[in-house]
Amino acid sequence: MTAHFIDGRARAAALKNDLIADVERSAGQGTGVGLATVLVGDDYGSAAYERRLRKLAAEVGVPYTHRRFGTDISQAELVAAIEALNASDDISGILLLRPLPAQIDEAVIFRTIDPMKDVEAVHPENAGLLALGVPRFVPSTAASVFHLLDSYLDEAGEDRDDFYHRSLIVVVGRSNNVGKPAISLGYERQATVQSVDKWADLTTGIGRHTRWADVLIVAAGKAGLVKAEHVSENAIVIDVGINPSVKPDGGIRMVGDVDQASVAPRVRALTPVPGGVGPVTDVWLLRNTVLAARLRAGHTLYPAHHESVLETS
Ligand code: NAD
Repeated sequence: MTAHFIDGRARAAALKNDLIADVERSAGQGTGVGLATVLVGDDYGSAAYERRLRKLAAEVGVPYTHRRFGTDISQAELVAAIEALNASDDISGILLLRPLPAQIDEAVIFRTIDPMKDVEAVHPENAGLLALGVPRFVPSTAASVFHLLDSYLDEAGEDRDDFYHRSLIVVVGRSNNVGKPAISLGYERQATVQSVDKWADLTTGIGRHTRWADVLIVAAGKAGLVKAEHVSENAIVIDVGINPSVKPDGGIRMVGDVDQASVAPRVRALTPVPGGVGPVTDVWLLRNTVLAARLRAGHTLYPAHHESVLETS
């Protein structure tokens, strides 16, 4: 068997078209859509992400602001910068890129972001709403994972509810920004959810858990962590990892956490890297930025389900 590759680029293109229409609609309603990104230092991955968002924002017509600071910035200076973005009527969404330098207390900065502009749901109020199953904003990477899963199931003609209710979702990696939100979204769909982290890898090995997964979501940041022996034949595998790998000619290419060559022939479906989770994540962040503008303008209430948020007004 050769896996079906779930095409993230095609799904991102469809979402992007919807988003362009939503941006136009929001502009007509005077709701002040705008994305601000904040980067401290020059982390390679974060800087690349910032450039992608800048380009995408221009393509979909979302005004874009970027604030970049040196790694010697003080906590008070960063708090002041976030407060200025909170106060701007032109900005509906704020994305704080990570990592932050050691002198910055991440939790303080998260609490500084206006919860109504907190499009990655890092403020405790939004993280709490997500954990309670009533998210205001669904963090973009986890949203992308489940959008790809849901749309794959739709195309395969499977009843989503029936599938999730009888399925085991195993999430490898439990960071606050990817793994934990993905776990929450699995709960929201009433699946059985299991969380695996590096301690399982260091002791029994992850295969003891991952081999039972109907859906395997891998977000560990370890190139090639998941190999053929870690997956079952009927698994749907979502590879979130993005890891730089040196090519024979000295160039850099991005690879996932899943060893695509050995896993693809064995499983039911797999997201490629690049071209899987990443493109949808980018669009979702902009989508949340439009949603934030509409929430602030009172055009839509707290969404009961993230798939329907832009259709509710
Ligand atoms: P992170 O470093 O914050 O968290 C990684 C998690 O994996 C931690 O819980 C860690 O303990 C766990 N882990 C580490 N080694 C492990 C192992 N051997 N076995 C099991 N668990 C292990 O990283 P993150 O921000 O969650 O990102 C994870 C990966 O996803 C990275 O490669 C990142 O670049 C990528 N990413 C992709 C997107 C996208 O849109 N595709 C978005 C965000 C992050």
